[in-house]
Amino acid sequence: MLQVIIVGSGLAGLTAARVLREHHNVTVYERGDERIATGGQGIMIAPNGHNILQSLGYEPERVGAVPIHGIRFYNKQDNVTEDVALNLKAQFGAEYMSQKRSDFRDELLRLATTASDSLGIEGDPAKVVFGVSVIGLDPESGTVTLSDGSTMTADVVIIADGVHSKLRNIVLNNDQSTTKKTGLTCYRIAVSTEDAKTALGDIPLPHWWEPSTCQNRSSLLHAADGTSRMVTAYPIRDQTMFNLSCIIKTEDSTKPATESWYAAGDSATVVELFGDFHKSLVKILGAASEVKVWELQDLDPIPTWTRGRAILIGDAAHAMTPMQGQGANMCIEDAESFRLFAPGTRSEEVQDILKTIGTIRKARTAEVLAETRKSHSTTGIGQRVLKNLEFNCGYKGIFEAVKSFEVRGK
Ligand SMILES: Cc1cc2nc3c(=O)[nH]c(=O)nc-3n(C[C@H](O)[C@H](O)[C@H](O)COP(=O)(O)OP(=O)(O)OC[C@H]3O[C@@H](n4cnc5c(N)ncnc54)[C@H](O)[C@@H]3O)c2cc1C
Repeated sequence: MLQVIIVGSGLAGLTAARVLREHHNVTVYERGDERIATGGQGIMIAPNGHNILQSLGYEPERVGAVPIHGIRFYNKQDNVTEDVALNLKAQFGAEYMSQKRSDFRDELLRLATTASDSLGIEGDPAKVVFGVSVIGLDPESGTVTLSDGSTMTADVVIIADGVHSKLRNIVLNNDQSTTKKTGLTCYRIAVSTEDAKTALGDIPLPHWWEPSTCQNRSSLLHAADGTSRMVTAYPIRDQTMFNLSCIIKTEDSTKPATESWYAAGDSATVVELFGDFHKSLVKILGAASEVKVWELQDLDPIPTWTRGRAILIGDAAHAMTPMQGQGANMCIEDAESFRLFAPGTRSEEVQDILKTIGTIRKARTAEVLAETRKSHSTTGIGQRVLKNLEFNCGYKGIFEAVKSFEVRGK
């Protein structure tokens, strides 16, 4: 049984913990408290991520996840310009699922830490230690230094500390690699149906919200005036809430620049930025009590993911914007790769397995990043999501990926 340390209890770290706990001894160190849930109000898990999660015991009904059956496009006056119905379950074996991020993270925490018999699996639950930062790393020996000054050593150290990873440059042997601002800012809002109805008064719920007309679509409301302004709207929490992601060019933001990864915003700013959209959207945006602002950043592909016994995964390895909705899905795919650590894997085999994972994942995530970057103008973004469906959602897991990598290499 291998000893595994995971840095960070985000989506990548917790999914990795769930995969590895079946056959290995896993400890996760998280600098925040148990409630930490970074990255936005809603999150869409695509069939490639959903298929993996299903195999790990994910229960969508626990999180009120809503299956998404297509993409619908609107102009800013709320007229439908295109409707694309999708049957992803038939095509890829699993649906797109939209959910509240904090609920989703709770579910991943359950999968990582709940009793093994309740999941019908072997092994012991992963141990998650909250309120402890990893402040140092020796990749060759697999030793981490914790914020209390103590050190811990493991056969495998998985670094899943997010887009602003402090450990990435140690793996890269101090080659300086930093994230880049993309010129886009995202205001992320969640509003309940109750609050929306109150704000709207006599005005009916918009076509894209009312369940009988929404028809489980993810809706893109596009300004189509060269400003890149766009709202992505989808239901979450059993359709009792909506996630609204409002994209603008950062230069159009009236909010002073912040060095932080995300910050609290205010609804008045969003109303001002989207004031020329249909009045129902403007009223709903005005009703939002919780608004978060992300200045969207991404990371050029890094030269390597591994050094010694350490590997980078998740946003620490391949941060990308949400413009193709694949960032978290890549985290889930990364985590699934640890299936290569079969029962009985010996400590001396670790470095070769990590190199295989790093090589395969680096190639796939670089392709997804390149397609995501093409969507930064927002023009044709929906069509690009559709064009990439097969490549993004058709992923068959690490064993198939290794096979096709070997075939290509011959
Ligand atoms: C606005 C927005 C919307 C998005 N929407 C989608 C979407 O719909 N679909 C999709 O697929 N992707 C989406 N993404 C991308 C997705 O959110 C990220 O890819 C994903 O959250 C990254 O997960 P992670 O585990 O790598 O990092 P994080 O979720 O950032 O987790 C990192 C964790 O590490 C901890 N940590 C950091 N440093 C240390 C340390 N030194 N010691 C201990 N702990 C540490 C942090 O506290 C944190 O808990 C979106 C991103 C944004 C910004």
